[in-house]
Amino acid sequence: MDTDVLIVGGGLAGLSLARQLHMEMPNASITIIERGKRPAPEAAYKVGESSVEVGAHYFGERLKLKDHIESCQLPKLGLRFFFPQGDNSDVTRRLEIGPSSYPTVPSYQLDRGRFENHLHELNVADGIVIHDRSRVQVVELRPGGRHEVKFVQGDEVKTISCRWLVDAAGRSKILKRKLKLEKDCNLKNAAVWFRLGAEVDISDLSDDPQWLQRTGPSRRFSTNHFMGPGYWLWFIPLASGSTSVGLVFDNKMHDVKEVNSFDKTMDWLHRHEPQCAQLIEQYRDRVQDFLCYQDYAYSCEQVYSEDRWCITGEAGVFIDPFYSPGSDFIAYSNDFVTDLIVKDLRGEDVTELARAYNRVYLKLSEVVFMIYEGLYPKFGNGFVMTQKILWDSVVYLGVTCLLYFHRKLHDLDFLARIDPELARYNDLLRSVADHFKRQPINHDAPLDGEYVDLSKTFLFGRNLNKELLQEYADDEALIAKLRDNIGLLEKLSKSIFNNVDIARTFQPALTAEPA
Ligand SMILES: Cc1cc2nc3c(=O)[nH]c(=O)nc-3n(C[C@H](O)[C@H](O)[C@H](O)COP(=O)(O)OP(=O)(O)OC[C@H]3O[C@@H](n4cnc5c(N)ncnc54)[C@H](O)[C@@H]3O)c2cc1C
Repeated sequence: MDTDVLIVGGGLAGLSLARQLHMEMPNASITIIERGKRPAPEAAYKVGESSVEVGAHYFGERLKLKDHIESCQLPKLGLRFFFPQGDNSDVTRRLEIGPSSYPTVPSYQLDRGRFENHLHELNVADGIVIHDRSRVQVVELRPGGRHEVKFVQGDEVKTISCRWLVDAAGRSKILKRKLKLEKDCNLKNAAVWFRLGAEVDISDLSDDPQWLQRTGPSRRFSTNHFMGPGYWLWFIPLASGSTSVGLVFDNKMHDVKEVNSFDKTMDWLHRHEPQCAQLIEQYRDRVQDFLCYQDYAYSCEQVYSEDRWCITGEAGVFIDPFYSPGSDFIAYSNDFVTDLIVKDLRGEDVTELARAYNRVYLKLSEVVFMIYEGLYPKFGNGFVMTQKILWDSVVYLGVTCLLYFHRKLHDLDFLARIDPELARYNDLLRSVADHFKRQPINHDAPLDGEYVDLSKTFLFGRNLNKELLQEYADDEALIAKLRDNIGLLEKLSKSIFNNVDIARTFQPALTAEPA
């Protein structure tokens, strides 16, 4: 057996990379080796169901999966956060941050089993060879020739050779372990999660008409975060009719031993999130699974090589699920990997390109690690977190999404041109991250029952989302927009340093609707 590209692991990263490669270069032979069985079960399958703008754009537009997503998955009503108030027994008294209507550029809630099954079927129809129920055992990298991989299928051990080898095997981290590329990080967080076979609706937490009418569509469609010091609890709806629920926390502030079973998690929730616990109790007989990661974040020394190997998805870097950036990182990485492989198969020398893409990808991940540094202890502080969430939204929409949507993250000439802007931006990120690290864990601001409506109060955020669809005449025009957005961040940072309540008072001039 021989193939141009061998992808180890047919999960979200591997399956979408295969589709992207095939779209770019239909004649390339592509093989996937996947340990699991297809079709995968729906709902209680993998974690990582919520997408944000980059990941959603990648799946919907670049991979042309919008029809499937719109007919078989759920639209996402943005990210929604509830901050602690008293004993957390009345949701209407908790500070809420979230949109009241759907944004222009969409994002989605993806049932992972259903989504991977669809990708699998499309890939098979496109002639991509997929060996499921097959486990890769040995990888031999041969920079001067074709790499060789041994995998077990039933009772047989088979061998396949390839020009390019991509590790998309998630937490098996095959190449990272083999090449000793593991890199630790400062984040020490843990997560437990489970799926309930029911449409759990957080709107049921109150029958207060004012609270219920504050948002147009049901809050159920948001990725709902119930926040407290050192932790957050998620509720994510799935199109298969189930609900994903997860608790994520700072290992230094909460003990994983107190939540490492469903029953223990429920006891914990009754103490910290009594209203949510009562809601979940109604579905106790419909628990579909329960899983736990004790220390989920890690980095990687290198992800792409001129020796024709790459690492993509969770096999390389995983940072944090708060803000749901997992699929974004699959999108960034698969773009780099696709470009490297396509150029090499067309006969170009990709030595320098592989090194440069490696630097850009690891830099991107460094920036996102910075966003999470020292953050979890502040999750109970509604005032500080309002500033932090609005800041991070402008960083994400105004810079990262702007560059991604206009295909500039792998345009090295463009990146070199905006080097001074990026340096200014990095300094800003560093100083604001340091400021947030110094903030107290608790607040005494009177936030009883307040609502920061991301669709109305935070209009400049909504505008940045809408503007992602804007076309720019040339690179100059795009750079001008980037400068404007960095300028906006500079103003925002001053308000943050001065402890101004930016949700209500920041820059009325910027809250006008875009043309
Ligand atoms: C608590 C938590 C919450 C998260 N929430 C979100 C979220 O809301 N949104 C989001 O975008 N991301 C989220 N993520 C991240 C998301 O889970 C990952 O980005 C995504 O699952 C990674 O996909 P992948 O294809 O790299 O890995 P996987 O989906 O794990 O796929 C790897 C595949 O490789 C196969 N495999 C492994 N070893 C072998 C082998 N030896 N031989 C053959 N095949 C093999 C496995 O069977 C598997 O199918 C979350 C992560 C965590 C930990």
